[in-house]
Parts: sequence; C-alpha cells; structure tokens
Amino acid sequence: MSSVPSTMKGVIIDKTGGTEVLQYKIDLPVPAIVDGQILVKNDYIGVNFIDTYFRTGLYPAPQFPYILGREAEGTIVKVGGGDVYGLKEGDRVVWGAEGAYAEYASVPAAKAIKLPSALPAKIGAAAFLQGLTALTLIREAHPVKKGDWVLVHAAAGGTGLWLVQLLRSIGANIIGTASTLEKVDLALKAGATHVINYSHEDVKSQVFELTDDQGVVAVFDGVGKSTFDLSLDVVARKGSVISFGNASGAVPPFTIARLAAKNARLMRPTLFNYIATREEFEGYVNELLDFVLKDGLDARIYKVYNLSDVASAHNDLEGRKTTGKLLLDPSK
Ligand code: NDP
Repeated sequence: MSSVPSTMKGVIIDKTGGTEVLQYKIDLPVPAIVDGQILVKNDYIGVNFIDTYFRTGLYPAPQFPYILGREAEGTIVKVGGGDVYGLKEGDRVVWGAEGAYAEYASVPAAKAIKLPSALPAKIGAAAFLQGLTALTLIREAHPVKKGDWVLVHAAAGGTGLWLVQLLRSIGANIIGTASTLEKVDLALKAGATHVINYSHEDVKSQVFELTDDQGVVAVFDGVGKSTFDLSLDVVARKGSVISFGNASGAVPPFTIARLAAKNARLMRPTLFNYIATREEFEGYVNELLDFVLKDGLDARIYKVYNLSDVASAHNDLEGRKTTGKLLLDPSK
C-alpha cells in the first residue's frame, strides 16, 4: 500500500470574494475515504470558470472552509470498499467532482476513469471538463448536424476551442467570436469558418451576411450577460440559444415571451447533468479521449501554474488573458 501522509498542500476559501480569499495551506488534512470512494494523489488540476463563481459567491459553496476545483488527473493511492468500478491502487485516472485544488482528493469512484497509457501527462486534466462540456452541448443541448451554421462565443477560450474543434469534426459551419486579433487567429486555426472580433466588429450584420439572412441554428454562449441579447438577435427561426455560462456575469431575469419572435429555444445546461450516470460518464469520457488520441484534437494548454500561485491563474482567466486550458501543479 502507498504511504499516504496525514497533511497536504491545498487551497481553501473560508469566505467569498476576490482572489485575496484564496488561501494556500501546507498542512490541510488529507481527506478520508468511505465506501465507493478512491483517494487520488493529483498530478495536475484543471482551473475552470466555475471555480471563480464559487470563489465570488455567484454559486454558493456548500460549506466553509471549502476546497475549490472540479477536476484533476493523478494516481490512485487508496481504494475504499464497495463498488469502485474496477479501479485499483496505482491506476492513473482523471476525475470530475469537488475538492480538486489540493495534493490529494477523495473522489467518488463513479466520477473517475482510468486513463489510457498512450495519453500524455496533463492531457486528461486539460481535456476533461471543458472537452466534455463541448461534446455534451453539441450532442444533447442542440444536436448539431453537418452543414449547420452555428455561433460559438469566446471561441478561443478553453471551452470555446473544444467546441470549435468538435463542431469542425462533424462538418458544421462555425462562426466564432473573440476579443483580440491573437484569439481570432487561434479560433480560425482550430477550425472556425469565420471569426468576428466582437470587441469592435458588428456581429449581427456579419452573421446574417454569412447565413443568407437566416441566422444560426444554434448559439453556444458561455459569455452570459454581455452577449445574451446578441445571441437572441442572431439565432435563426426555430433555432437554439444554449446559454451555458457567466464569464461576463449572470444573465439577468428574462421575459420568455421574447422567444416567440422566432419560436426559439433557450436552454441553460450544466455538464454534470449530462454525465450523471456511470454509463453517460464513461461513454462521453471515452469518446472525448478518442477524439484526442485518434483524431488529434488539441487539448491546448495555456499555462501550468504552481498551486501556490492560484491567484494569478484566477486573475488571468477572469482578466481574459488566457486561451485554452489553465492547470495547477499541486507539488509547488
Ligand atoms: P474561457 O477560457 O472561455 O474564458 C472565458 C472567456 O470568456 C474569456 O477568455 C473571454 O474571451 C470571454 N469573456 C467575455 N467577456 C468576459 C468578461 N467580462 N470577463 C471574462 N471573460 C470574458 O473559460 P472556460 O472555458 O473555463 O469557461 C467558459 C464559459 O463556459 C464560462 O462561462 C463557464 O462558466 C462555462 N462553462 C460551463 C459549463 C457548464 O457545465 N455549464 C462547464 C464548463 C464551462 P474573449 O476575450 O475572446 O471575449
């Protein structure tokens, strides 16, 4: 059996606020596990916008102190009793649950999956949450078909780059938005058909020009408050606005009668409700890893930050400085 220490490095919050509430500790208790759980020594931890929502209080933390973070890859160092889906000590896994910003995490075995040996280090954590979000959105929130015209906001962001690559692989026509020239280039290289710099260009007129005045059949909008009206403006008759995030703030209360103008659908999905059963979880994770290993989709890593420097990671993500995935190294 691996020797597991009693304390670990980790990041907690005991109140909500700016990055000053992130407390790096070197003596947190290593969590205990119960039946159905595994203890994972994390190698790389994914940073996601949702972590900032729990930090600011936009999403309420279940308790304080609270360890942020929803995904990591690492090695199983202890296995609890009961059904652990065949996972064993020594297995390299990726997982999606709570309490990731730490050296060790107790994880429901149902939310972890063994990584293929061919998958290089970092890629499990880089791909998991954002890649699965993109995959489930285009399969279930609005099933996109070859030739469809769709719009992806923040197309050079972590989730945006996955959406663009996956949509490209099914032959959709992708209009992206991004705020800088560098981000526009990146989204084009990832496979977008056309990318609009929404910091100064007129998105609506370009979308209607590109789509023969029809609009797009689906808008994938993780930006939220600042793009919501635009998303309703550019969606086609009978199309879908998939509002899946709040990077610019939460979408304010909305009068549903506005949807009648185009018989549009509005949806507000979360990843965790698409991967709630083991069958859904395994199916989508394996499919995503196949896209990476067999089809060469790129889990673009922006930067690996030391866990002790987690505030810089949050500042960069919220400051729109990043493209692709931010990871934390819990050993530093
Ligand atoms: P990103 O890497 O996409 O970063 C967010 C991007 O949003 C920025 O880079 C920026 O791109 C754009 N943006 C526009 N306005 C703002 C603003 N005011 N402040 C900050 N960013 C802004 O992050 P993620 O991939 O982690 O997340 C993207 C969205 O997807 C988030 O809203 C997140 O909550 C959501 N999400 C939802 C999930 C779900 O289950 N529903 C799961 C995963 C992610 P630019 O500069 O080009 O505008």
